[in-house]
Amino acid sequence: MAAGSAIQIPSRLPLLLTHEGVLLPGSTMRTSVDSPRNMQLVRSRLLKGTSLRSTIIGVIPNTSDPTSDCDDLPSLHRIGTAALAVQVVGSNWPKPHYTLLVTGLCRFQILQLLKEKPYPVAEVEQLDRLEQFTNQHKSEEELGELSEQFYKYAVQLVEMLDMSVPAVAKLRRLLDNLPREALPDILTSIIRTSNREKLQILDAVSLEERFKMTIPLLVRQIEGLKLLQKTRKPKQDDDKRVVAIRPNRRINHLPSTAEDEEEEEDHDDVVILEKKIRTSSMSEQALKVCLKEIKRLKKMPQSMPEYALTRNYLELMVELPWNKSTKDRLEIRAARILLDNDHYAMEKLKKRVLEYLAVRQLKNNLKGPILCFVGPPGVGKTSVGRSIAKTLGREFHRIALGGVCDQSDIRGHRRTYVGSMPGRIINGLKTVGVNNPVFLLDEVDKLGKSLQGDPAAALLEVLDPEQNHSFTDHYLNVAFDLSQVLFIATANTTATIPPALLDRMEIIQVPGYTQEEKIEIAHRHLIPKQLEQHGLTPQQLQIPQVTTLDIIARYTREAGVRSLDRKLGAICRAVAVKVAEGQHKETKPDRAEVDEGEDCKEHVTEDAKTESISDTADLALPPEMPILIDFHALKDILGPPMYEMEVSERLSQPGVAIGLAWTPLGGEIMFVEASRMDGEGQLTLTGQLGEVMKESAHLAISWLRSNAKRYQLTNASGSFDLLDNTDIHLHFPAGAVTKDGPSAGVTIVTCLASLFSGRLVCSDVAMTGEITLRGLVLPVGGIKDKVLAAHRAGLKRIIIPQRNEKDLEEIAANVRQELTFVPASCLDEVLNAAFDGGFAVKPRAERLNSKL
Ligand code: ADP
Repeated sequence: MAAGSAIQIPSRLPLLLTHEGVLLPGSTMRTSVDSPRNMQLVRSRLLKGTSLRSTIIGVIPNTSDPTSDCDDLPSLHRIGTAALAVQVVGSNWPKPHYTLLVTGLCRFQILQLLKEKPYPVAEVEQLDRLEQFTNQHKSEEELGELSEQFYKYAVQLVEMLDMSVPAVAKLRRLLDNLPREALPDILTSIIRTSNREKLQILDAVSLEERFKMTIPLLVRQIEGLKLLQKTRKPKQDDDKRVVAIRPNRRINHLPSTAEDEEEEEDHDDVVILEKKIRTSSMSEQALKVCLKEIKRLKKMPQSMPEYALTRNYLELMVELPWNKSTKDRLEIRAARILLDNDHYAMEKLKKRVLEYLAVRQLKNNLKGPILCFVGPPGVGKTSVGRSIAKTLGREFHRIALGGVCDQSDIRGHRRTYVGSMPGRIINGLKTVGVNNPVFLLDEVDKLGKSLQGDPAAALLEVLDPEQNHSFTDHYLNVAFDLSQVLFIATANTTATIPPALLDRMEIIQVPGYTQEEKIEIAHRHLIPKQLEQHGLTPQQLQIPQVTTLDIIARYTREAGVRSLDRKLGAICRAVAVKVAEGQHKETKPDRAEVDEGEDCKEHVTEDAKTESISDTADLALPPEMPILIDFHALKDILGPPMYEMEVSERLSQPGVAIGLAWTPLGGEIMFVEASRMDGEGQLTLTGQLGEVMKESAHLAISWLRSNAKRYQLTNASGSFDLLDNTDIHLHFPAGAVTKDGPSAGVTIVTCLASLFSGRLVCSDVAMTGEITLRGLVLPVGGIKDKVLAAHRAGLKRIIIPQRNEKDLEEIAANVRQELTFVPASCLDEVLNAAFDGGFAVKPRAERLNSKL
């Protein structure tokens, strides 16, 4: 062997005393250092040293360093391994220590201990020569048969392992490339050997002896592997892989440490996971991906962050309901009864839902349409969705889309991101555990948009029956079939739903309720529900219909019933306190008294109750007697009424008219006010108006100016040019709310006509309609909601565009009966209807000159 190529280690080496594990030349070991002497060595030699030489230390095995600094140095093992400290990691937890990564270079023998403190240093003699691994033929000649035999066993062993594992393939290559004399040390540290055996190998200084000692160890390993493969034969190559990864432990049956057991457990988990993957009914594509991932997982150390990620991913894949579904039990008659029982009114919606369900019953794999319920909040859109799930016997899951502005919310994050997770659709499927639930996409009109992409675009794929059988979530990265999922969407308005998304859905308008409907809903559904939630019975609390009407008219102003429900909840809470307090009272009246009390319930309770609710100290009322909520009690519980009829009061001056507006929250009445003053003919508009509304105002003024003579309208100075020396200010109260839309046209004209004529608009009339420059009245939308709003506000006559007459059919007969509708096709008709006695062309009267 070429002596010139040998590498020399320093003749004085600091000594690291290790207890666990034996470092052999050519192998690497991680060791924890916490005794004073070893710590000192690391600090002053490894951390402070600057040269390569200073990173070479002597590792003496099988020697435990005493925990105290002053204890005597224990007797040292004679032979050690010179090692290169490759990495030092310090930590203070649970106690100060370093973790060293050391690579063995060669054997050495201690000649003389030079010093003991602060760490031992010895004069050493190098035992192995460190060759540069070049000349292998020579070593073969020198050791002849022994080396050849060893080499054969080594190759046999390695080839029994799974060569597709990169580490095994590398080991196989190393066998050919490394000098033979390095092999015993390296293989001993790889195969399963006890510390005692390793120590023997370390002590075997002569190469021949080392070969002789290692061969039995190799043979033992080979035999163990053979045995294992025989017992596990039926399961072909997967288990070979398992063997390949942790061959040692399984072969030698050595007593394992706690850590080993933990690892073993985790390993078993992976095997169980693999089994679950194989037995799950996932798609072929998904199975392929999962098997690939599990293969990676097995090779990954558990400390790697990716290990947990991959495992989570696989667990999700196993959990997903690839093929699990509930059986539809659809019976149209039962569905109708259930829908009717759960919901009062909303006939049109229920009819359409039943049609939809009937078609489903006839044709099971119905593709599309996606129903989208559009209407104000609290009209029961979500609860109808829930009923549909119930009638079909399917799971129900609500996905709230309000404010979602990131595509990944729908489609998931790619797994490369930290904290990546699947989107809401896949998450929902995992939650319900079946692949055919009813998904309610709540508030699709409130989807946002941001730099992170457009979630509406992601929804397109989800909702398209042609595409959604292969929906690919970014996190899953494999297609999942959504075609069995029944999607229902809800929205408050279609205006903000992206057109492409709107195109995929069938819109069903759910208008607000009339007062009568609300009363019915309250008494059939809301009150019983609230009573139950508060642990009350109808024998304890009674809310008469007049009180409900009061709540509806004076404490809520909404299209739906949500605030009504809340107010009823507040009443129940207040009564619950009374009842609970009353239960402590022992005094119970005899039966006769109660009966008597019930006979004249309305009367007696009214007075008594007013007191009982308002005066907490007075608990004279026995709990058996129902607490009846009347107007006084209502005031005590809910405070003074929030809304009062203010219509007639506000119409006591010329220049005010009532319009009808539609908002996503339902219909509303809207006062339009105008005033004029000296000026240069300017028009001022206030009240947060949109562009369309501003245009309507200009149109209205232009039309009035051009018709001023016909109607004998003049400005303050008597001129027919209404804007001559006159400024006009138009205001739409509730100035903080943005308003837009063309339907205020007729109201603005009426309001200005009132201003310039000095006449009052009838106080019981409301109007809606778009106008043209020629004075025509064009149809507008949301008639039903607007009419209901006018009805709620107590108005009696409504001027509507003639072409909207057909929309009146949708309105409940009782509401229609209470209102008078005036269809108008031109502005002349509008003005005629809006003013008492009409607004015909009149001779000029003196009061027309009146200024405001
Ligand atoms: P939305 O989704 O339209 O905002 P919800 O479905 O959440 O409204 O309804 C609010 C509450 O009103 C629910 O408790 C629901 O049961 C009740 N509700 C609404 N409409 C009706 C109805 N027609 N019949 C019975 N209860 C109703």
